[in-house]
Amino acid sequence: MELEPIIGLEIHVQLKTKTKMFCTCNNSGENMPPNSCICPICLGHPGTLPVANKQAIEWSALASLALHCQIAEYSKFDRKHYFYPDLPKAYQISQLDHPIGKNGFLYILNPESNEEEKISINRLHLEEDAAKLLHDPSKKYSLIDFNRGGTPLMEIVTEPDIKNPGQAKLFLQELRQIMRYLDVSEADMEKGHLRCDANISLKPAGEENLYPKTEIKNLNSFKMVEKALEYEISRQTKLWLEGNPPKEQTTRGWNDDKGISEEQRSKEEANDYRYFPEPDIPPIHFFIQAEKPGQDNGKNINIANLKTRLPELAYDKKKRFMAEYELHYEEVRIMIEDKKNADYFEQVISELHDWVNHLEKAGQKENIWQEYKPQLIKLAANWLINKLFPLLEEKQIKIEKIKITPENMAELITLIFTKKINNTTATEILAEMLATGADPSHLIKEKNLDQISNEEELENIIDKVIKDNPRPVEDYKKGKEKALQALIGKVMAQTKGKANPEIALKLLKNKL
Ligand code: ZN
Ligand code: MN
Repeated sequence: MELEPIIGLEIHVQLKTKTKMFCTCNNSGENMPPNSCICPICLGHPGTLPVANKQAIEWSALASLALHCQIAEYSKFDRKHYFYPDLPKAYQISQLDHPIGKNGFLYILNPESNEEEKISINRLHLEEDAAKLLHDPSKKYSLIDFNRGGTPLMEIVTEPDIKNPGQAKLFLQELRQIMRYLDVSEADMEKGHLRCDANISLKPAGEENLYPKTEIKNLNSFKMVEKALEYEISRQTKLWLEGNPPKEQTTRGWNDDKGISEEQRSKEEANDYRYFPEPDIPPIHFFIQAEKPGQDNGKNINIANLKTRLPELAYDKKKRFMAEYELHYEEVRIMIEDKKNADYFEQVISELHDWVNHLEKAGQKENIWQEYKPQLIKLAANWLINKLFPLLEEKQIKIEKIKITPENMAELITLIFTKKINNTTATEILAEMLATGADPSHLIKEKNLDQISNEEELENIIDKVIKDNPRPVEDYKKGKEKALQALIGKVMAQTKGKANPEIALKLLKNKL
């Protein structure tokens, strides 16, 4: 029997607003001492009144737009009741039937087939997080940190559109990038800013019916999502082949140490949340059309205005970079991982165009940009990806704090392209530029690092090298090609690495 997996994801994204969802407590409590960012509201004391965080609502609408969701004109909060030590009110303020966004979708690019795959999104709603329970197995009690209680969470639910574990991972990575591009969440899975539960069932290939699903919890990394789903597919395949497919909905927890999922509870013990509308928070009305000037009282959230704030998202940027700059998928993937890196690259390219224009005007050559555009862009991309970004990583410098202006970076690329300096010198200069912010031509003059392309000057050095090294010269004449490398090495040593290697090689061969 051929079986097909049906996978849906439920993702919680922690918003990085300044304050919590319904009170003015500091929302960065994860970096603070336990229970230092709390108040009667987020502790759920009776008689306190929640006030909704406008920023969180606005960001949820922005995220809904990025996920191509319809925004509800009318939205409201509901109480979801359950009893647990991390929830002192005994209910969570969430949204039941009027989520902020619904019926959206997200495209992912399959790197192997290069095909677009569409994943539908059922809804996006806003809610508050529960406190954090700390269980220490060596002690007879558990501890609670209420700093996390009441922090804003967006819950995103996909349709059961996902066909395999790899696709689930790609979807999550795309989603994380969207949250980072929108700058609404750190979206770090390891830190719990992005949490994912996966629903999975199998069905005989081609059949329309869905079978009872299994929910897997505790998935704290992209790898875990992939591993847990792979494990569930093989576990459920076995059950199907034994003629005993899952008959009811169950919840399982992923145990990463053992590499297995373990049953937590079945449908019969499932909670009945007794939802009802939250009476203490007025409903939200989104303004869908643009307001006339002067009508904006600053209190409304206007969807048409919000749309204008939507940046170019990673997926579109990826496609554009591949088409416009003719870079490979992997290069583009690295380049756009962080929006700020991508922005820096585009500034460098624009400045590079300017530098090349200067060269053209100085009469060095005509139409350099038209003729060499792909090579120039590739050279710039390589220097950023292979030299600059690793250097920033090593020195723990953020790109927004970088001392190298895009103009100076573009000048460095121009100097490499026109062979004024070789790669060794350029690497040295790059490090210096990063440290001091100096421009490259200044550094070259100061350190006397110009590449020696002057043939006369090189010939003198080569003559001396040939005279001083009769052994390799003899070897080369006897047909040992390797000896040539030794001689080039001597030329480089004589010139402190400044000789233009191509010209030096040509001259050396001529002389021999
Ligand atoms: Zn509070
Ligand atoms: Mn939830």
